Amino acid sequence: MKHPHIHPLLKEIAAIFTDHGKQAFLVGGAVRDMIRGEEAQDWDIATDASPKEVTDMFAKVIPTGIKHGTVTVRYKGHALEVTTFRTESEYDDGRRPNKVDYVSTIEADLSRRDFTMNAVALALPDGEASDPFDGTGDIERGIIRCVGNPEERFGEDGLRPLRAVRFAAQLGFEIEEATLGAIKPSLPTTEKVSVERIRDELDRILDSPKPSRAFRLMEETGLLQLLLPELARGRNVEQKGFHYFDVLDHSLVACDFAAQENAPPAVRLAALFHDIGKVDTRKLDSAGIWTFYNHEQISADLTREILLRFRYPNGVIDKTVHLIKEHMFHYDEIWTDAAVRRFVIRVGEENLIDLYRLRRADAYATSGIPLPRDFLVPLIRRVNGILSYNSAFSIKDLDIDGHDLLSIGVQSGPYMGIILKELLETVLDDPELNTKEKLLEIAKNLSKRYG
Ligand code: ATP
Ligand code: MG
Repeated sequence: MKHPHIHPLLKEIAAIFTDHGKQAFLVGGAVRDMIRGEEAQDWDIATDASPKEVTDMFAKVIPTGIKHGTVTVRYKGHALEVTTFRTESEYDDGRRPNKVDYVSTIEADLSRRDFTMNAVALALPDGEASDPFDGTGDIERGIIRCVGNPEERFGEDGLRPLRAVRFAAQLGFEIEEATLGAIKPSLPTTEKVSVERIRDELDRILDSPKPSRAFRLMEETGLLQLLLPELARGRNVEQKGFHYFDVLDHSLVACDFAAQENAPPAVRLAALFHDIGKVDTRKLDSAGIWTFYNHEQISADLTREILLRFRYPNGVIDKTVHLIKEHMFHYDEIWTDAAVRRFVIRVGEENLIDLYRLRRADAYATSGIPLPRDFLVPLIRRVNGILSYNSAFSIKDLDIDGHDLLSIGVQSGPYMGIILKELLETVLDDPELNTKEKLLEIAKNLSKRYG
């Protein structure tokens, strides 16, 4: 079978390989996407040329994975991963192959790949398919199936089970029975995989259109209990009263909502973990209703531990934890302007939109029924009103500074800091007081009181 739509640039690149007497095949996700009728994201090339030969063929080549026979070729604004035909052997730690052996045929190269849908190659330039495991058929049927014996393949590399559930969420595919059944016996191998490789898969799950699909498969196979026990234990933690779902289902529905709304990664993470502390804080009150006092703080602490464990960047950790800690606000019309200003300061202007997103996901996930209108509109109106009004939100927005205080005899140092904070509190309560004249007056009184 031939695939008709080979990109002109790939044909151009193929000609360079042919001129050097070498073969080039398009492999991996790009082929999968083309068979599914989608635009390929990035191009992986397999070749019988050695990394050294590839390096000599092109002007810009970066040795990105030279140990595994991979180099990155930069060509007319594109980056292509070019890997020499190879097999892998001696996986004694379930991490990475100890040894890479080059092989001479594309068929031998395809047989080391994880899933049949990832083991189809298109010969360049004409697009003739090499498909020894009927990957095309599995792609058309929407099936994720290991190449060869699933337990053996998962035993070689414990990341593959997580890749299977990730692809299920990303592509909406089903995992074939024997492949799914091999995940549980392979958990000891998955346990040895590096946290960075696992985190990359978690990120791709969260980036998929319906992350819950992967998390439910993870629960069914034990991957969730192994990798995210804090989340898994929310199963059967009932919270009747306001909620339809147990804590785990609630978290998954919230996460799917955030994904559907195209929320950024920190919001998706926050939606997934915002309630994990409920298990520790659940108590029945005298009326027989479950309460979860302070769960946002426990959830935030547990989330920090999880994200540190997976070595997430500090920026992502801080943002996610902050959103979780602040997710329990309950706006009421009786909030004073000062209360609204304090809310804005506590959350941070730059986090408001993301907190709204988290709150909408949380609200949706109490029932899974879309709310008729955006219940946050009254709060957003108040916040926007206050933000457009020229009022002070931090010490640097005060109409007074340290020099002004020095001029009325306030010494610099911690004492001056205290006075500036008091002035800010005053202005938060009454923005009208944010003029130099009035603030100097107040500062004089404060300094008398403290002095
Ligand atoms: P995407 O790039 O969309 O995540 P992909 O299938 O291209 O999907 P890559 O991680 O880029 O995934 O890998 C390219 C190809 O290399 C895969 O299609 C697969 O054939 C092979 N591969 C990647 N990781 C593994 C692995 N852990 N075990 C076996 N084969 C793998
Ligand atoms: Mg790829």
